[in-house]
Amino acid sequence: MSGFSTPAILLRRIDHGDHDLIITFFSREKGRIPVIAKNAKKSRKRFSGLLEPFTVLELVCRSPRRGGMPVLQEAAMQTPFAEIRDDVVKTLYASYWAELLCGWLEEYRPQAKIYRLLYYALRGLDRNLAAPAEMSIIFQVRFLTLAGLAPRMDGCVACQTPLDRMGSLAFFFDLEKGGIVCNGCAADSGRSRIRISPGTVKQLAWIQENEIRTVQRLRLTGSAVKEGLLAMEAFVPYHLGRVPRSLRVLQQMRRQ
Ligand SMILES: [Zn+2]
Repeated sequence: MSGFSTPAILLRRIDHGDHDLIITFFSREKGRIPVIAKNAKKSRKRFSGLLEPFTVLELVCRSPRRGGMPVLQEAAMQTPFAEIRDDVVKTLYASYWAELLCGWLEEYRPQAKIYRLLYYALRGLDRNLAAPAEMSIIFQVRFLTLAGLAPRMDGCVACQTPLDRMGSLAFFFDLEKGGIVCNGCAADSGRSRIRISPGTVKQLAWIQENEIRTVQRLRLTGSAVKEGLLAMEAFVPYHLGRVPRSLRVLQQMRRQ
């Protein structure tokens, strides 16, 4: 019988029959992994409240000899991030990030930098290092960079005019072209464009170039938060191929 141990963040859990849970973890050593927690539903004592969304656990798993899902043997709490679950808005943002990673990460492919990003984004949310909306912009911009999907923000992606010569008028974020376009080129962008100001582009570009630990204490301007959320919450689902359910709920809640 072989097995492994790894720190891991709980992304999603679903019921499996009357007794068990199937849990998707983002593990540091193995990337996204599905794990079955036997009797976790039936016996509260079995994992005594450890298996909550966004907790960071040290897992010990057993791999069945004939393949199939690893079985959770032991779990020890590393970081509970309990403040997130006590707050509806924080929970929705964290759920959006978890859903995004469930959809994007490949099973058993380690992604150490993205693991660290999620850890620090959850920590920032838990400890109020930035407002949840700001933390979400940071998470999405950094995620796109680490995933190799970073939008181009140093000039117009169509005519190559550099940012500092694009003028001070608002320009556009083009989802299909994968970056900003100047006013002149925006006419060809059709419906895939979002209005964005030069100031917002500069703030997003700065986040793109720096680690989350550097940028998490950044205070974005009000208009950068508004425009940054609009652009990132359109661009990320564009690459994911769907709008995560928790993002839909979050956007509905903002409209009310
Ligand atoms: Zn242009």
